Amino acid sequence: MPESVSKLYRALIFDGRVSLAVLDTTAVVNEAIGRHHLSPVAAAALGRTLTAAAYLAGWLKEQTSSLSLSVDGGGEGGRIGVAADGALRVRGYIERPAVSLPPRADGKLDVGRCVGRAGTLTVIRDDGEGIPFVGTSPLVSGEIAEDVSAYFLTSEQRPTAVALGVRIGGEGECVGAGGLFLQPLPGAGEQAIAFCEERIAAYPDLSRHIERRGAKAVLADFGAAGATERDVLFACHCSRERAAAAVLTMGKKDALALIREQGKICVHCHYCNTDHIFDERDVRALFGENA
Ligand SMILES: [Zn+2]
Repeated sequence: MPESVSKLYRALIFDGRVSLAVLDTTAVVNEAIGRHHLSPVAAAALGRTLTAAAYLAGWLKEQTSSLSLSVDGGGEGGRIGVAADGALRVRGYIERPAVSLPPRADGKLDVGRCVGRAGTLTVIRDDGEGIPFVGTSPLVSGEIAEDVSAYFLTSEQRPTAVALGVRIGGEGECVGAGGLFLQPLPGAGEQAIAFCEERIAAYPDLSRHIERRGAKAVLADFGAAGATERDVLFACHCSRERAAAAVLTMGKKDALALIREQGKICVHCHYCNTDHIFDERDVRALFGENA
């Protein structure tokens, strides 16, 4: 059963040589569906990317550290942009949230076609230590899991076995979503790499495991003891104050010109699909005029 709050579980397995992570992101994906009105295939594509970002964020050093993960594959759903912080707050969007595609021959949602594979996956990570790390790798299939795995190998020189899944129910709601990551520690050896590849192959339908058994049962499959547990939330960093700062950078003259043209100024946040609206009175107040 999916949990009511999304979770990241991590543990060491294989004699402490492999880092295991299991995520249940069902609640996060449902929040994204609600905010962006996602079609099933868009929900699967964005949901897998949000799950991958939550995993990556689990490695950030500070709560205030941040990262972004963007996938630009030229597919029918357009670009996907996701951001996360060290407190495991994630947010994200897909360019064409209503994209509708026929299922694949095996009945699964065609995430590969939605995302496309003529492009790259890019991670920008800011650990607050000066210059952010930027890693990019060519997409393999647009199915996200393989693309993230390829990213780890080429950009971070860390072979990582990845399974990601999002299952959508008859009402367009997410009934199970999550991720499974197996990463040998540096110097763990070939045996550990082979172990990861072999074990990940048992989860071609990870979302079904999350839906029916739950993330803790997947954790138990690996005999993982002493796992750490953290909450993952869909939460945006935008606010009316930040939107107001954007209006201020326009300058009073341009802001009032826009008000004359449109009657209001709308600062849109892609990540959470929120419009921050300012009318003439708001704008004049921002620039210090008395009402
Ligand atoms: Zn926002």
